[in-house]
Amino acid sequence: MNEKVVMIFTGGTISMKIDPEIKAAVPSLDGHEIVSYVNNLDELADIIVDNYISIPSPFITPNIMLDLSKLVQEYVSRDDITGVVISHGTDTLEETAYFLDLYIKTEKPVIFVGAMRSVSELGYDGPSNLVAAIRTATSPFAKNKGVMVVMNGDINAANEVIKTHTMSLNTFRSIEFGPLGIVDNDEVLFYRNSTNNSIHIPTNTLENKVYLIKVASGMDGDLIDYYINKGAKGIVIEAFGRGNVPPMMVNSIKQAIARNIKIILVSRCPSGRVSGSYGYNGGGKMLCELGVIFGTNLSGPKARIKLMLALAYKNDYEYIKSIFEDDNLNIPFVKDN
Ligand code: ASP
Repeated sequence: MNEKVVMIFTGGTISMKIDPEIKAAVPSLDGHEIVSYVNNLDELADIIVDNYISIPSPFITPNIMLDLSKLVQEYVSRDDITGVVISHGTDTLEETAYFLDLYIKTEKPVIFVGAMRSVSELGYDGPSNLVAAIRTATSPFAKNKGVMVVMNGDINAANEVIKTHTMSLNTFRSIEFGPLGIVDNDEVLFYRNSTNNSIHIPTNTLENKVYLIKVASGMDGDLIDYYINKGAKGIVIEAFGRGNVPPMMVNSIKQAIARNIKIILVSRCPSGRVSGSYGYNGGGKMLCELGVIFGTNLSGPKARIKLMLALAYKNDYEYIKSIFEDDNLNIPFVKDN
């Protein structure tokens, strides 16, 4: 008997065609039409198609992510389901995938997939990506790996992967750690486990008043002041290098902390951890002493997602600090097969 895999469709380029009037890609195909591009799909698995929504992924919001997470949690709780594949636009895919990684509790594979080329373009990569995602979802080695992203033959961990290129098929990469594994024709090979420390945030709600600021040279604290006035509960700062900000920003950070706004510091570098290496005004050491929390090597958008869930669960400094800073990377390098 075939394994049963749920495929949830949300839109994105994988569902798009070039509209002859607009002369640009817009969502057009539903899930049934997309899977019809794959020959002999029934030999891989019994597919349940769920046409959840059909939108470009810049339309996806954290509230949609929360709703989608609840749906996926229901599916993985069913005994007859082996795994879930979610087809998603690539622009915000890494955020939704990471959201589900923090929310869902399951050992079953949950896989995100998309396409970089629409149906109207030569080399539409939707069907090959879907097949690779389904093969991963039915692999006995894909259990307990957290949420994964399968694109262009690579299997990446949701907490590690970012979209690195605007148009390349090889855009989803874990720059720091490399892929978890690969899909090589019909073989699914895992080389390691993810650096995910299996953090699960047990909340059914979200804190939406969480903002992201990217630091650039000469910036002052105006944006922080603006978000303080908007009633922010948390602010993620994508800082320079090892975790430093311009000195002109420091006073606003102090003001925010005084109002119990949680400040998470990550780096605008695409890899590496932040730390208190520098002691000058605005340096990581000083920020840490002020009460800024280090977001280790998370990207800014992912740190924002994590803070939205964490604050909804418990708006408590020690809890938020531990959930961001105890990143337990000492997971052994495991070869599963
Ligand atoms: N702009 C598209 C989206 O994210 C890109 C894609 O799906 O590849 O919906």
